[in-house]
Order: sequence, then structure tokens, then C-alpha cells
Amino acid sequence: YEDRDGRIWMDGELIEWRDARVHILTHALHYASAVFEGERCYGGKIFKSREHSERLRKSGELLDMEIPWSVDQIEAAKQEFLEANGFTGKDAYVRVLAFRGAGPDMGVSARQNPVRMAVSGWEWGSYYGDAKWQGAKIDIAKWKRPSPETIPVAAKAAGLYMICTMSKHAAEAKGCSDALFMDYRGYVAEATGANVFFIKDGEVHTPLADVFLNGLTRQTVIQRCRERGLVVHERHILPEEVESFQECFLTGSAAEVTPVAQIGNDWHFQVGQTTRDIAEDYEALVRS
Ligand code: PMP
Repeated sequence: YEDRDGRIWMDGELIEWRDARVHILTHALHYASAVFEGERCYGGKIFKSREHSERLRKSGELLDMEIPWSVDQIEAAKQEFLEANGFTGKDAYVRVLAFRGAGPDMGVSARQNPVRMAVSGWEWGSYYGDAKWQGAKIDIAKWKRPSPETIPVAAKAAGLYMICTMSKHAAEAKGCSDALFMDYRGYVAEATGANVFFIKDGEVHTPLADVFLNGLTRQTVIQRCRERGLVVHERHILPEEVESFQECFLTGSAAEVTPVAQIGNDWHFQVGQTTRDIAEDYEALVRS
């Protein structure tokens, strides 16, 4: 994975993929001082590119980490990356990472350590493989999304993913594609890298994004559903309600719109027409 051809944009320069290294005393490795974006480029154009760059900077601010690149500069960096790797006109997944590097302070406090940035990316098919069409099987995570008083939950920050990796590993060990989190209050929250939606009697229900990432895909889907005349309820959803929902799907830049067939042992859903319409709508939008 490291020793391959390709180029990575790092701190203002395009360097060889195999040379994109950091020192072991990189602050982010020890203290999770890192924020990132996962974006998809369709036919050479990143969907909601600017919104992703803005969110990256916002995530940095939430971690008391000023990213030394403006939104315009981040946009230019992504463009340089795409061109350098021949992704112009193609589909790709783009990963932008900003992190606190090594520096004079190797403790918790690290104001003087430089904030660095890298843009990498690769070709990446469906996030959930065949589930994209058949409906994914989802485990229920044993961890909970934390309170906003515990950690800046609106940041797309590395530290928030520790329990995501653990929960996804546990899910995969049971033959599931992902895990659904409840939040610290017991409400349905999100999956490890995607937001969740439900359909009941033609109406859309999705958890209120008050303790987890309000995904750009989530916002796009809500807007499109409303434009299509669907009623959308953003609200607190209790696990007890889930069995009454008829359809379920996940949304994310990587996940796109992926139907869910089962959550845990007891909750089953049909890959229904409403989900299919929304998925097709999203597909058309990202390529328009
Ligand atoms: N929640 C989490 C934990 C995620 O990692 C993602 C993917 N970035 C999302 C939600 C969806 O966000 P977006 O639609 O902006 O990709």
C-alpha cells in the first residue's frame, strides 16, 4: 500500500506516493490531533468539493487547530492531486487529512507543532460492495456516540473514529457490513461512517444530527426528498420504533445511498421503491 506509483499532495508539494511519510513523533499519532474529509470525485469533479474543504477547516477550528491553508488553497490542492494522478474525467475517492506534526512539544500541549496537510486518493467502488443493491446487514454497536460535552461531535476528527473501527471490526466478524450506533441517551444515531434514514408509509425519518456528524450526503438527501415532495422528519428516534419502519438506508460520501436489509437480529427492511428512487436521484445528482 505504501510502495506504489502515484503522487500525493503534501504540505504544498506533489511528492511520490512511496515518499509520503511522517516521523514517529507526529503529534497526531499519539494524541489523535487530526481531522479529515472523504470525498468522491465523479467524472473528474468532486461532489460538494467546497463544502468538504469548508468542513475540514471547521473541524480543525473545533480541535483548536488552525489549518494553514484557505478553502481556495485546499480546493487547488485537490485539483493538483487529481490531475497529477490522471483522475481527470474519472471516478475516485479523495482523502484530505490535516494533522499536527512533530515539533518542539512532544506532550499533550503542542501549539508550536506545525499543522500539516495531505491529499491522497484512489479508485474505490461501492463502499458496501454488493449491499449497494441487495441491502446491507448491519450490526448494533456496543459503543455509544458520545455527548457533545465529552468531545466536539461536529468535527470529522480522527479521535471520534476509535470506536468506529472497533465496532466495524466486531460487525464484520459477525458477517455484517457495518454497525449502527445508539447515542449516549439511547437514541438511534449513525453508522461508523454513514448517516441513517428510515421510511415509513412514504415518509422519511432520520435522527436529528445533534450529537454526530451532520453528513453532507445526509443534508443533500434531505433537501432532495423535500424537493420531491416527501415529508422528512428529523427527530430523536428510539430503538423501539425501528421495527415499525419499512425501509432503511445509509448515506455518506463514500457510502452514497446504500439500502439496509437488516439491523441486528430483529429488524428487517425491504429494499423498497422509495429507497431506490432516492438512490437513483443521488446518483443522477452527483453526475449532473
Ligand atoms: N457519519 C460518520 C461517522 C462519517 O464518517 C461520515 C462520512 N464522512 C458520515 C456520517 C457521512 O458524512 P458525509 O455525508 O459528509 O460524507
